[in-house]
Amino acid sequence: MAQSTRQGRLLVISGPSGAGKGTLIGKVLPRLANAVLSKSATTRPMRPDEQQGREYHFLTPDEFENRVREGDFIEHVKYGSNRYGTLKSEVTGNLDAGRDVVLEIELEGARRVRRLIPGAVLIFIAPPDFAELERRLTARNTETPAVIAARLGRAREELAAQKEFDYIIVNDNVGKAADELERAIRSALREEQT
Ligand code: 5GP
Repeated sequence: MAQSTRQGRLLVISGPSGAGKGTLIGKVLPRLANAVLSKSATTRPMRPDEQQGREYHFLTPDEFENRVREGDFIEHVKYGSNRYGTLKSEVTGNLDAGRDVVLEIELEGARRVRRLIPGAVLIFIAPPDFAELERRLTARNTETPAVIAARLGRAREELAAQKEFDYIIVNDNVGKAADELERAIRSALREEQT
């Protein structure tokens, strides 16, 4: 007889660009034996320290549009002048195999996932304050001033939406915030019905 496997949970980590989502996920993911990170698709140009298929599936605008038409995305958004999307192929098989899947996505995507998948856990990573977000985005030197300005504009909307999330983690100290994120995930996973 086939063994009944627990269905995995979707763990949505959101928050403004520069809040430290990627850093915190990088610290916490290795502590979670049963979780995998979904690799999104994007049309954004690759940064010098990135690799095709490692941080993202980097697609041309035509390739991205074809994948949209094929129905390959769970959700996709325009962010700045680029497109980003969560691929079904990164998520469905893992959930069915009982693995929890982490999505690192912006606010609109998080809202769509919540509507589509009611069991998803939504976690917001917040910067200590707006000035610190500005400082981090400028210091990491990966975006042009125009892109930074656009991201900060979007960040105001994202910060205003924190209350829609199940958990809010303030990233004022990376070690402490990583511990809190781990606790939030473990607590959310414990709450599930058996
Ligand atoms: P970045 O260009 O800095 O890698 O990402 C820009 C923003 O897009 C970040 O807030 C990131 O979390 C978000 N993002 C990355 N992948 C996806 C995705 O598949 N869907 C959505 N909605 N947002 C994404």
